[in-house]
Amino acid sequence: MIKKIPDYYKYSSKPVLHLSPSRIKVRNQVLDKIQKEIYKEETSKCLLCDSIRYTTIAEKDMYGLPVKTVVCDECDLLYTNPRLSEESLSTFYNIEYRNLDRLDGASIDDFYVFQKYKGQLIYSFLKDNMILDKIEGKMILEIGCGAGGILEYFKERGYSVMGCDLGAEYLNYGIDKGLNLIQGTIKDIDNYIEGKWQNIGLVIYEQVLEHLSAPKIELNLLSSVLQEGTIVYIGVPGIRKIEDNYEGNFIRFLQIPHLLHFSKVHLDYMMRQALFKPIFINEKIQGVFEKTSRLKKLYQEELKKYYPLNNIDYILHLNKVRQQKWNQNRLRNVYKSISLPVRDFLLKIFKRKK
Ligand SMILES: [Zn+2]
Repeated sequence: MIKKIPDYYKYSSKPVLHLSPSRIKVRNQVLDKIQKEIYKEETSKCLLCDSIRYTTIAEKDMYGLPVKTVVCDECDLLYTNPRLSEESLSTFYNIEYRNLDRLDGASIDDFYVFQKYKGQLIYSFLKDNMILDKIEGKMILEIGCGAGGILEYFKERGYSVMGCDLGAEYLNYGIDKGLNLIQGTIKDIDNYIEGKWQNIGLVIYEQVLEHLSAPKIELNLLSSVLQEGTIVYIGVPGIRKIEDNYEGNFIRFLQIPHLLHFSKVHLDYMMRQALFKPIFINEKIQGVFEKTSRLKKLYQEELKKYYPLNNIDYILHLNKVRQQKWNQNRLRNVYKSISLPVRDFLLKIFKRKK
């Protein structure tokens, strides 16, 4: 049981990364809408085991927005509770999300190049794990494909590809590049391919599952349409890599549209429940699964046994790691915490003195 949330995890509107004035403006707009209840919140049960018993571990996200992250008392899953309602989330994605998420000056072209690079990483990962043979001659489907850069990479390697997403701006960019993309979700794919799921060899969800308010429903739907043996690739941010990838800063890892946070074991468990057998998963997280109707079930009790530290103790441990790393890089961090115009000014004076 947790007695006290560390001060660093308590709510304050201070972002934990540098945000440009234009991103601060978008952040303030979201904050204002939450405070005025234009953006409505709703309580959530555990997205893995449906329990309603939880412990709150953090009260803010990296932008300094009031986001409560809780740990399920039953299965140890980390998730957001309360979270924005379905309707508010959808408005947020349409109006603020891209401008909050996107670095200043980064264009849709840059995003596409970045997506293509991700496509290369996924391709290499599948190749290294000897999955490419299993999908030869089959179609690749990506759910939540954005502009479709990942699919472009596979297309250049001779695969037929198709993707879907909700955001029209990015989709149209990919369609103009000649990609086979449709506006919608997995529910709309069935109509589009006229139920011919046997043609699909690989389904990709890259940084998508953590955004879904009902991931189990999505996976069960996917499982119900896919043929036996179809491969599913899942990429999600992994909580057990926060020490390596986020300098131990748990808050830096949290952002308002992420509704649940996976470790390797939790993803494995969720996928098994929907009849997907793990072929390979790491803590990064990249996972490859195969649709099968014969599967060994995992039990909830096994989840807690997997790690030496449960998620609450692990996140409290991270706070110590963060403080240590901050102390080690003290000068660099002070410099980083100064706003850009002031940094430029200081740099000019420093150069003049030289
Ligand atoms: Zn749970």
